[in-house]
Amino acid sequence: MSASPRLRVSGVSHAFARHEVLAGIDLELEAGRIVALVGPSGCGKTTLLHLCAGLLHVDEGTIENGFATQASMFQQPRLLPWKTALDNVALGLAAAGVPRGERERRARELALRLGLTAVDLERFPHQLSGGMQSRVSLARALVLDPQLLMLDEPFSALDVGLKEELYGLLLAHLAARRMGVLMITHDLMEAVRLSDEILVMTPRPGRIVARFELSLAPTQRDETWIHRNTAYLLQQPAVRSSFGLPARVPQAAPAIADEAPGLAQVSPAAPVVPFPRTASRC
Ligand code: ADP
Ligand code: MG
Repeated sequence: MSASPRLRVSGVSHAFARHEVLAGIDLELEAGRIVALVGPSGCGKTTLLHLCAGLLHVDEGTIENGFATQASMFQQPRLLPWKTALDNVALGLAAAGVPRGERERRARELALRLGLTAVDLERFPHQLSGGMQSRVSLARALVLDPQLLMLDEPFSALDVGLKEELYGLLLAHLAARRMGVLMITHDLMEAVRLSDEILVMTPRPGRIVARFELSLAPTQRDETWIHRNTAYLLQQPAVRSSFGLPARVPQAAPAIADEAPGLAQVSPAAPVVPFPRTASRC
């Protein structure tokens, strides 16, 4: 089979007891692409990721995952406190039966590339800063060389400088491999910085209401491009509605909208649902 692997989510809805969390979700992710799912807190992003990762049962709709291997990185590093940083990075390799010498070599090599030192690798998680723990967590996912990488707001707790550095490391790693990446974030600028496609979700229940394609390769985007396109995105009605912003764009913003944007809304995937909806509650 020569077709590139893909993840296809069709008509997926999900409820926790009687609480409807997701409704009619469709999305597609192909190898070599980064798709960002953005939306406000509570709109069902993590639930959707868990469904895609096979951590939750799909009750309605279908998820076809053609990627042979996958790894996830979560908002909290979730490291095992009784294992050293090196052993945490190598965890998935151990589970896959890779012999100790080989897994330590691979884990060390990748961790050093992600900015950890030999000393950090001998430490336990509580002896590491939050930034170092995030690097360990990213290394633990990437060392598996997954075809599909799922990221759930992995950088949201980090300061802006550290975020920048990890974005760069992640993009450099992805450039060498044709991974598919499904990235969840509530940070529009992060989505504009990293992704090829942005799906905008609204809450109660979570739906995808707009899809934007980004024109430039993520590694070629500079600060100006990122700021301009984030501002452009923030002016789009679907995005404003999703995040509960007033429909009217503030006076100071129009100059940005006149600049040729590097992203285009390719579909309103479903009618924009006004936010907040009066008839439902979360
Ligand atoms: P997001 O990641 O976009 O912040 P989540 O997917 O975590 O949103 O949650 C969506 C909604 O589902 C929230 O209202 C949340 O309280 C609810 N929810 C999430 N997980 C569970 C669960 N295991 N049981 C019951 N409700 C849940
Ligand atoms: Mg979440």
